Amino acid sequence: MDFQLSEDNLMFRDAAREFAEKRLFPNAEKFDEEGKVPKEIYDELAELGYFGMLVPEKYGGMEIDTLSYVCAMEELSRGCSGLMIGLSVHNSLTCEAIANFGTDEQKDKYLPKLAAGEIIGAYCLTEPNSGTDAGSLKTTAKEEGDYYVLDGTKSFVTNGGLAGLFLVFVLTNKDAGSKGISCLLVEEGTEGMSIGAPEKKMGLKASDTREIAFDGCKVPKENLIGEKDKGFKIALSLLSNGRIGVGSQAVGIAQAACEEALNYSKVREQFGRPICSFQAIAFKLSEMAVKIDASRLLVHRAAWLKDNGMQHDTEASMAKYYATKSANWVCNEAVQVHGGYGYIKEYPVERYFRDARVTEIYEGTSEAQMIVISRAILK
Ligand SMILES: Cc1cc2nc3c(=O)[nH]c(=O)nc-3n(C[C@H](O)[C@H](O)[C@H](O)COP(=O)(O)OP(=O)(O)OC[C@H]3O[C@@H](n4cnc5c(N)ncnc54)[C@H](O)[C@@H]3O)c2cc1C
Repeated sequence: MDFQLSEDNLMFRDAAREFAEKRLFPNAEKFDEEGKVPKEIYDELAELGYFGMLVPEKYGGMEIDTLSYVCAMEELSRGCSGLMIGLSVHNSLTCEAIANFGTDEQKDKYLPKLAAGEIIGAYCLTEPNSGTDAGSLKTTAKEEGDYYVLDGTKSFVTNGGLAGLFLVFVLTNKDAGSKGISCLLVEEGTEGMSIGAPEKKMGLKASDTREIAFDGCKVPKENLIGEKDKGFKIALSLLSNGRIGVGSQAVGIAQAACEEALNYSKVREQFGRPICSFQAIAFKLSEMAVKIDASRLLVHRAAWLKDNGMQHDTEASMAKYYATKSANWVCNEAVQVHGGYGYIKEYPVERYFRDARVTEIYEGTSEAQMIVISRAILK
């Protein structure tokens, strides 16, 4: 086994680290307070190619492998996880959907703009009454001539207020349940589509999350991604890839929280000595290091399996489950190492603690990952 990252992997990791340390890390608190990331940061990311990481070169993307992608995403998350999740949805859910399942016309029309960051992508699966049980979604798309007419509501849409293109999962066969779901591309501004106000969240405030409603929204039939009624498989396969990305997000947050705790423990003195000299604190830091390392290895393994065209659904769920649980544990302990100051906004561990929480919820809750893993090991 070779645990060494390739030169390419290291190059993408180091470039993302440099950008994150210069442009994200110093401003992440401001982004959190303002509930958004300024346009200039998106422009800089676009210039550097981060909107086209997984898009084939022939459409203007970087076409990097998944391992390089997660190395870069971990660093961007360490800098600002709210920004990172928007990029993750754009790259691994929207761009990959078109690159892997789209027609040549759809690829020609959308991928160059997505790769250049001219338009941002969003992924709309969840509904008010359909979350973990995503196959029970109720948004309908009725055929009318050359169009589908959409009615229904999608909730918690990441990039909802920023996106130019929405990947929307709809019911095209009402009586077939998850076997009647199709996947459509809906352009922002399409008549009959309305975008709600930003959700007021516990954490990850720099990320834009909204409800999207469709009321008689007409979408051309040519915007169907993949085959009619076969969209649920697309949704699941994209989520499997997305979970590797959320795993890397969790590792990035945990790494940032661990670094803060380490530094603080060396300068904070009690009983006349730095608190890191107390075994109770040193062991917390050691356990953080172990959990982060194990999480990163699971994320890298899932990415490697995907890059090598191997089955990786279970491994993606394992990586997401372990990395997100670990990130929540690490952030909690990082607050503890800071004592009362960990509870005060001036110290970034307070934000990391809030940001880590959602990683166990979206792109499949921890319980949903357990379902995937138990099915695989019990079969
Ligand atoms: C900030 C944020 C961003 C998001 N971004 C997006 C996005 O871009 N696109 C999108 O489509 N969705 C998005 N989501 C939605 C997210 O994927 C869902 O919230 C998630 O899948 C859980 O669904 P739910 O909230 O309806 O919870 P529910 O499904 O109602 O679950 C509630 C609880 O019950 C548990 N549970 C449910 N079923 C079972 C079962 N069979 N066995 C054991 N336990 C079970 C769950 O694990 C959970 O603990 C986002 C959510 C958030 C908070």
